[in-house]
Formats: sequence, structure tokens, C-alpha cells
Amino acid sequence: MIIGGGILGTSISYFLSFLNKSMKIAVIEQASKVAFHTSGRNTGKVHAPYLYNPEKKKLFAKAAFHGYEMWEEYVRLRDLPFKKDGVIEVALDQKDVGVLEKYLRWGKQNGLSDSDIKLISSEEMKKIEPEIKCQAALHVYKDASTNYSILTDSIMKDSKENGTCFLLNSRASKIRKENDRWSIALNDGREFHTKFLINAAGGEAINIAHEAGIARNLTDVHFRGEYWKVPKKYNNLTKTSVYSVPEFPEYPFLDPHWIIRVDGSCEVGPNAVPVFSPYGYSKSENIKEFVPKILEMLGSGARKTIMDRQFQELAINEIQSSISKSKMINRVKRFLPSIDAEKIIRRGTAGIRSSVINENGKFVPDVILENDEMSFHILNYNSPGATGALPFSAHIVNILNKEGLLRNESPDAQCGPWKFSEILEKMGE
Ligand SMILES: Cc1cc2nc3c(=O)[nH]c(=O)nc-3n(C[C@H](O)[C@H](O)[C@H](O)COP(=O)(O)OP(=O)(O)OC[C@H]3O[C@@H](n4cnc5c(N)ncnc54)[C@H](O)[C@@H]3O)c2cc1C
Repeated sequence: MIIGGGILGTSISYFLSFLNKSMKIAVIEQASKVAFHTSGRNTGKVHAPYLYNPEKKKLFAKAAFHGYEMWEEYVRLRDLPFKKDGVIEVALDQKDVGVLEKYLRWGKQNGLSDSDIKLISSEEMKKIEPEIKCQAALHVYKDASTNYSILTDSIMKDSKENGTCFLLNSRASKIRKENDRWSIALNDGREFHTKFLINAAGGEAINIAHEAGIARNLTDVHFRGEYWKVPKKYNNLTKTSVYSVPEFPEYPFLDPHWIIRVDGSCEVGPNAVPVFSPYGYSKSENIKEFVPKILEMLGSGARKTIMDRQFQELAINEIQSSISKSKMINRVKRFLPSIDAEKIIRRGTAGIRSSVINENGKFVPDVILENDEMSFHILNYNSPGATGALPFSAHIVNILNKEGLLRNESPDAQCGPWKFSEILEKMGE
């Protein structure tokens, strides 16, 4: 049984369903459709792995590299939206130029070729994108735009065809271990039993791990990424989405970007406003969760995080950019001077990032995999999680098999357009 019908839980079910024709697989999702939360509320970029340190984030970088190719192949087969439109990362001062040089090195180490990524001067940039102001830029040609809701929905349909049961509108509200099985109580009073539980619950993965007696030293903090939709007259300002070198690279989010969506519409965002729930889109949800979350944070490593001066400054800055539209838009205006906050009036769809914090109050930079003999937990599965979801899920299914937790019946099965063994080979497994 898998808890969580985001892009990760759905992709895991996809591979399990091809490799284990006789296994009964169910995905429990509280929303009315898959990818209702973060997986369907993100920037929609299929990222080339240039932002990821090849030593510290090797697995994520590899998953992004192969994820790009796998999505490209999958969307061709199913005729889904995917635009290879590239991305530009701009340096706004000399210090940023050094960071771009590092990103170029990382990108190459992570498998990008000379034709995928190029460092260009501000003069060259002016010829390509006259509206952009910068000191230098990385032009990343191997980057694309898509709609991850549509992709997850299609993966769900494939998984369902192989027999996976998707229990939508079903919240796992209580989990108990009963001898050699789990008892999972749903919000509607039904109770299910399973011998093996996979926790892919996104912003609630930590809570579910705690309920299962796992990762009790870890906690999480939620950040709402808000977007502003820009008017049509700005749609042709640039040909490519534009990111800037993040001001605080040690935190697990970037500064707001200039985004061109796969349908051609443009947005500014996301920021990263601290909120009190993985579903803290509204004031009422945040008020409801304020006290329990604060108490939880004070009793965990997050206490040190909220006392940290730099974190407080960053949080205030992000909260201001939530309250004040022009504060947010001006962060993008630094490299796209012709946009005017006054002309931007419609909010986009916000998405929430849940970042795990350890007992020392530090943000954990990478994904965390924890298990016992009856459960497997994927924690801190953040950006570019949607890009890498397919190969990363194959990686998880391979670990389950290797560790003897969930043996695959046909380990070399054809999984849609890919042979399972070939995905693992590409992932270096
Ligand atoms: C603002 C923002 C922008 C991003 N942009 C990009 C991008 O451009 N490209 C990219 O590759 N990645 C991006 N990401 C990252 C990417 O979106 C995530 O890594 C990915 O969506 C995580 O998928 P998931 O399945 O783990 O989580 P989710 O999508 O959150 O899915 C978890 C699911 O579990 C369900 N659930 C939780 N608890 C329960 C329960 N008790 N019972 C039943 N169901 C439950 C939830 O309802 C949810 O649907 C972005 C993230 C954010 C926040």
C-alpha cells in the first residue's frame, strides 16, 4: 500500500505494477485526484541538473538527468505537453558570475554536454534576449516546460491498467502495526490492512514516518511558494524562462523566477513564505495549524532554526514579499526591468514545499530514505522531484527488491517504453 498520490507515489505504483503482476497494489490519496498538491502546483520545469552538487546531491542529479530523457520519451508516446524551451540563469553581480561558473562545472559533471549548457556574456545575452539585464548568464538548452498534473494523471492511468487501485478522497488518518501487518484507518471509517507500507506522502511524510515509529529525530518546516500571473502583453518579453543565482543557496529554495509555462502564459514566482501546514494555502488553514505546529517546532530541532538570525531575516523577507506584490515583482525586475508591478494583478496557484530539519536545526539538503522490515519512507523529496520522479521511483523499487522488502516477480520487465534493467543501468545500479 502506498500513501500519497503525488507524482512520486503514483510513479512508484507504476513500476511496481509492471514488475509484479500478481501483487495487489493500492495508492491512498486524500484529494479527489492525483497530483492535487505540490506535484500539480509547481513551476512545471523539467530541469537539467546544473544546480546540484555532483557529490552531495548525486542521486538527485542523476534522477534529473535521466528523468528529463524519460519524460521526453513518455510524452512523445502519449502526446502530452512538453516544450524544450530551455532556461536562462542570470548573474546580477561579479559574485554571481563565480556561482554560474560553478553551476557550469556541476552541469558538465552531472552529464550535460557543451551543446546543453553554455556560459555567455551580458553582450551575447542582449542579442538573444534584449530585455534581460545581467552581468553574465548560463544558457541551458536542455530544460523544458510541462504540466506535471497531466503527466501524473497519465502515469496513474497506466498503473491502473495494470491493476493498481487508486483510493481517492481517502485520507489515511491512523496507522497501526498489528503483528505482521499494518492497519490503516481511513477518514471515512474504512480500514485496510497491508503487509508493506510505502510512505510517499509529501508534506505529511514526516508525520506518517513518526506514526510508524521512524525518523523521530527529524521534523519539517513548510514554505508556500506563491506565483503572480502576468498580463498577456508581457508574454513575449522573453523567449525563455529566467532564473537568478539564489541569494541564500544554503536554503532549500530559489529566488522568484520569470516563468514561461508550457501553454505560453507567463508568471513570476515562487517565493518561499513560512506556513504552518503542508496545505497552508489559506489563512484559515494556517490559523488552525498554528499552535500545534509551533509546539512541534519548539520541541524539535526546528527550535534552533527559528532562533537563527539569518533564517529570521530570510523569513521576514519572504513574508514581506507575500504581503507586498511589488516587493515580490521587484525581485524579478532586477533582471527584467521593463515589468511593472502595477500591471500585474492576478495571483497564480501556490504550491507548498516541506523541508526536513535535523536535530541540530539544519536543513537536510538531500532526500532521506528510511525503512524497517514492514515499511519504506521517502522524506524530504523536493526539487527537482517532479523531473526525476520516474528514475527515482525505479531506484526505490530496486532498493525494496535488493533489501528483500518487496521482491519483484519479473525484475527485467518492460515498463511502458523502458526496460526496468536499462533504467537501473543508466542510474548506475
Ligand atoms: C513552488 C514549487 C515549485 C517547484 N517546481 C518544480 C519544477 O519546476 N520542477 C521539478 O522537477 N520540481 C519542482 N518542484 C518540486 C516537486 O514539485 C516535488 O518534488 C514533487 O511534486 C513532490 O512529489 P510528491 O509526490 O513527493 O509530493 P506531493 O505532490 O505533495 O504528493 C503527496 C501526496 O500525499 C497525499 N497525502 C499526504 N498525507 C496523506 C494521508 N494521510 N492520506 C492520504 N493522502 C495523503 C497528499 O494529498 C499529496 O497528494 C517544486 C516544488 C515547489 C513547492
